[in-house]
Amino acid sequence: MAGKKDKIKTEKLTGEIRIPAIEPGATAHYKPNLAKPEHNEALGFPGERVKNWKVAAVDKMGDLLSKYRSLQVYMDICVKCGACTDKCHYYLGTKDPKNMPVARQELMRKVYRKYFTIGGKLAPGLANAEEMTEDVMDEWYNYFHQCSQCRRCSVFCPYGIDTAEVTMAAREIMNSVGIGHKYCNEILGKVTTVGNNLGMEKAALKNTLEFVEEDVEEEDGVAVKYPLDEVGADVLVIAPSADFFSSPHIEGFTGYGKVFHEAGVSWTVSSYASEFANFGMFIGNYDTMKKVAQRIKDAAHDLKVKRIIVGECGHAWRVAYSFWNTLIGPFDFLDPKYRAPTHICEFTLDLIKRDGIKIDKSANDDRIVTFHDSCNVARASRMGDMPGGQFDIPREVIKSVCNNFVEMHEDAIREFTYCCGGGGGLLTDELMDLRVKGAMPRAQTLHEVVERDGVNTMAMICAICKAQFSKVLPKYGFDMEIVASVHQLVANAIVLHGKIGV
Ligand code: SF4
Ligand code: SF4
Repeated sequence: MAGKKDKIKTEKLTGEIRIPAIEPGATAHYKPNLAKPEHNEALGFPGERVKNWKVAAVDKMGDLLSKYRSLQVYMDICVKCGACTDKCHYYLGTKDPKNMPVARQELMRKVYRKYFTIGGKLAPGLANAEEMTEDVMDEWYNYFHQCSQCRRCSVFCPYGIDTAEVTMAAREIMNSVGIGHKYCNEILGKVTTVGNNLGMEKAALKNTLEFVEEDVEEEDGVAVKYPLDEVGADVLVIAPSADFFSSPHIEGFTGYGKVFHEAGVSWTVSSYASEFANFGMFIGNYDTMKKVAQRIKDAAHDLKVKRIIVGECGHAWRVAYSFWNTLIGPFDFLDPKYRAPTHICEFTLDLIKRDGIKIDKSANDDRIVTFHDSCNVARASRMGDMPGGQFDIPREVIKSVCNNFVEMHEDAIREFTYCCGGGGGLLTDELMDLRVKGAMPRAQTLHEVVERDGVNTMAMICAICKAQFSKVLPKYGFDMEIVASVHQLVANAIVLHGKIGV
């Protein structure tokens, strides 16, 4: 797999993840583009930094501390044990000590001490407390946008301190005073008005679905339908919009349709809610998260479906599995026989187990497959009705459709998985350097199985992971085709009724 590399300097792949010597300030200049006034205002935030922003930011911190007990606890209980320091992929990749989770939290904790603790108010020097200043806010903006909210650090923290939640709070505070991140806020503007992150209108979506239908028919000789806005269909499928146009996402989406076709289940996509992704979580803003999620509930209601099945998207699965119920529930108009929501992997595995679809595993015999656990699925949700289902169900699907499956190193899978480096709203070009460096740990563990076992496919169930890895793994010398959707493998192996040659 060694090979061509371009200008971004990447670490040599050895299969080992080494803890680097620190390089203070190495990524202090990484700064994502600021949102324009119209992006902020569309979400109900001030367009630009408000005049009294320092006071307003501290007030907002007080508001969040009183609202979220967890945040208050996280501010108070860190004992600086250091267990989290070498657990963040961004620290490992960038060597910047401010990317150590404890140091990232400390950016907020210092300000917290100054305004919300007696010690910090009376003796800020002794208490290591700091006023909110222009420099502090600059550091917040830069380093809280170097956290993908992956929660790996919290797995190793003896107190379970969740840096992702601290990052979300910091971003919420910044947005509340008019300091927004362009990538996230612009996208959220589109999904809350048009219905998907791309701003893709109904006509374009219809064309895409027709194109997929033609493609499948040409390749397999079977008329598989990819319906749009079909009132009364059994299932509403909510996919990340990348599934409609990117590769290998669209190959996975093709697979969903083949599964429904073979199962004889009627389904539909909605043009009103054609997005599973929910960046409201990335900016820590519940109102926005709710607004995005509500469109899905409304679409399901209006289309009179019996159930909702969701596609391959990591953070969106977290929002759906962990938050939908309290955010937009109840779903009492759906058929209570089915879990709401159901993941497409659960649906497919159930069919495979019940012989509801026919599989020819040899169709994937040219592949030696490994599986990348996506952080929000692994550490912030479950799947199915047993503990660890979020790890086992996608693996069982893969093993049911492929003969050759290999695990990566045990320290880098399941709850210990490494982030792809592009999660948490960081999948933007101006952060490419950070994204490449943050992908280093996964590149190392992938290299190990490529060299040792001949792995040529890394499957996953997250739209962001797919987009990120397709872009950054080539910088480490991997072929971008190594990245695959789990349902792409299903699509290859499923035996379609009437398929040419069957
Ligand atoms: S949540 Fe993930 S990205 Fe953020 S500090 Fe922890 S390990 Fe790093
Ligand atoms: S592991 Fe937890 S308690 Fe220890 S330094 Fe990190 S955040 Fe603090």
